[in-house]
Amino acid sequence: MIYVFITFFVLLFLNVYCAKASHNLFKQSKNSAMIEKCHLAGDEISKLDVLNTINVTEAMESMDNLKMTRILVTDPAGLVLYDSMDLDTNRFAVLPEIVRALDGMDVFTFLYHDGAIQSHAACPIDYFGTTIGTVYMMEYDTVQGELIKSLLGTIFQISLLLEIAILLFSLIYSGTFSRRMKRIMTSMRIIQKGDYTHKVKMGGNDELSLLGDEFNNLTERLHTSEQKRRRFVSDASHELKTPLASIKLLSDSILQNEMDVDTIREFVNDIGNEADRLNRMTAKLLSLTKVDGEVAADCEIIYMTPTIRRVHRMLSVIAEQSDIQVELDLDQDTPVLILEDDLYQIVFNLMENGMKYNLPGGKLKVALSREEDNAILSVTDTGVGIPEDALPHVFERFYRVDKARSRATGGSGLGLAIVRVIVERNKGEISVSSQAGKGSTFRVSFPAFDTEVDKP
Ligand code: ADP
Repeated sequence: MIYVFITFFVLLFLNVYCAKASHNLFKQSKNSAMIEKCHLAGDEISKLDVLNTINVTEAMESMDNLKMTRILVTDPAGLVLYDSMDLDTNRFAVLPEIVRALDGMDVFTFLYHDGAIQSHAACPIDYFGTTIGTVYMMEYDTVQGELIKSLLGTIFQISLLLEIAILLFSLIYSGTFSRRMKRIMTSMRIIQKGDYTHKVKMGGNDELSLLGDEFNNLTERLHTSEQKRRRFVSDASHELKTPLASIKLLSDSILQNEMDVDTIREFVNDIGNEADRLNRMTAKLLSLTKVDGEVAADCEIIYMTPTIRRVHRMLSVIAEQSDIQVELDLDQDTPVLILEDDLYQIVFNLMENGMKYNLPGGKLKVALSREEDNAILSVTDTGVGIPEDALPHVFERFYRVDKARSRATGGSGLGLAIVRVIVERNKGEISVSSQAGKGSTFRVSFPAFDTEVDKP
């Protein structure tokens, strides 16, 4: 409707402007032509010796190129000396144009009405500075009048057709537009109800189809995150259910069976272990939800060596107990931008796994190196390794290659998932290569910061 209104006013303006412009054009050309003819006739008359009806009529009839509807010549008192329409000259002309011409002015008036132009011109007849009469001419022009009429009529018809076309186009366009908008709205409602697989089909190649594409992308991302959320909830509840079921089973056994004190002690000990496992798992789940949402803050540019040594000291008891030889190769240390706590957690999880999934007498090597613009931390063990088909999944939540072994070592399948989230949060990348039975290498790379930082 706005388009229709705007074009309506533009076309209205165009019509009025054309009417005014053509009116002015004709007026100007008539004005100069008729005043010139009046002067011409005036000049002829001023040459006469005596101004009387016979002389003036003769002079006027000798000028056959004037081609006016009516010509009047009066004396200075306004008495008609010649009238091309009426031979009875014995009367006074009181036309307003003649009255003003007698005052010494050239006068012109113009009137257009319904296909006819009526123009009047009058001028004084000058004889050495004295007004000795007036010449008045009137022209009733239907030829040029019809021309103006047909010109304005054509412009009006074209405008009308244009306006109708614009109205029709606007109706069709707005109909299509609102139909497509409705399609998006319907899709939004469907998705609001939870059907994330729904896709909106917009068609076309305009902004609305781009909007449709963006909308579909958004829905797809929503779908993926909803799937992840559901899987996480079901995995978490499943994982939490297992130790709870064990606790229930063990406590029921104690209550329902006659047992000696040692067996009861053993069962209660198992209940305690399961409770510990539950504790660890909930703590890790909490830390995972925490790292998921956070953006790394309070990062500093630091060398990795002090943190690695700290973790090494922390895990040295486990290394001794499991008979694992730890080797540190930290010469090529490069500063990285990271939160120290995050780095600690990454190194701790990777080194702990390197010991948990190792074999007695095995080795664990932590090395730092530099590759182009990246600082690399690698943790290599000579442990059980990871089968090839399991490699893509080790960073997934609750994924464990050997459930029994992982459970036996207190694993929850969350450690590497946490590590990956933390690494990515600090703009790093993590990868793993492994051979079942031979060992694994976890490689973490961070962008290097070659600024002046005190080397530890
Ligand atoms: P968990 O708490 O079970 O150790 P992680 O997320 O740390 O969970 O590891 C996921 C799984 O990946 C583990 O259960 C284990 O099967 C495998 N894994 C992780 N690190 C190693 C490693 N260094 N050597 C062999 N297997 C490993």
